[in-house]
Amino acid sequence: MTPSFNILGLAAAVLIVAPLLSASPTGVPGVEVVQTRKITAWDGCSKSNKAKLEKDFKNAAELAQYAHDHMKMTDKAWTHYFRAKDEKNVKNLWDAVAKYEANDYSFTVRCAAKDDADCKVHGGSSFAATDPKPEEKGKPRELKVCPKYFTDEATKQSMDAKKYEPGKRGSWCKLAPYKFKDFSVGGLVLLHEITHLDAVGIKAKLPNMKQPAQAGSGASQYVDEGHSPRDTIEPWQNAESTAAAALEKWVMDKCKYDDIEV
Ligand SMILES: [Zn+2]
Repeated sequence: MTPSFNILGLAAAVLIVAPLLSASPTGVPGVEVVQTRKITAWDGCSKSNKAKLEKDFKNAAELAQYAHDHMKMTDKAWTHYFRAKDEKNVKNLWDAVAKYEANDYSFTVRCAAKDDADCKVHGGSSFAATDPKPEEKGKPRELKVCPKYFTDEATKQSMDAKKYEPGKRGSWCKLAPYKFKDFSVGGLVLLHEITHLDAVGIKAKLPNMKQPAQAGSGASQYVDEGHSPRDTIEPWQNAESTAAAALEKWVMDKCKYDDIEV
């Protein structure tokens, strides 16, 4: 399944500013702390929006950590998106998102205004946009969050909105029929965005792919299917695949599902 960007209404070039999160406990077994990404600046964010984003950045790291630690090449959450030979690059990327250490990479976050050009693309359906260009003179790139992020069904909830309890009423684990969008959270979008950061691609030691896309000339070159000809990008380069596979793995394990429809 490719619940891509388009379904989520994400902008093509969503760039994440790499914030270093401070250590915080997570619900993932074996993970003592998830670094709070180092966000070197918060621009234009209200107190409540910043609190929501901090929670969602932590969720993004949890999803990445879980996928890195538990994804098997035979999992549907994997085969829906990737080939076996994509394992190294994708897992390295999840690892970089989940385990970066302070000062390994940074980014800035901007809560953009409704009339921001990056938020108005695609009829105003963008949740976020990240600047994927290589850093210049060590200046962190910006991850921009659009107003829609805070109100849309696909992003306004964080993972702690409900519990993941199989068969329990009111939990995330709905009874069939259910679709991928039923599990969408803000952290999914932020995970997608973070992978656009060139600094993260460098951290993940991704091959330096020459792409015709908007993503500049850096290491990650993480692009969005739908914004580049499909045959010009490798599966592991699709930002939405990396994020969606991680969330699918999480939900399928927690809810004990055999599969999740698009
Ligand atoms: Zn993107």
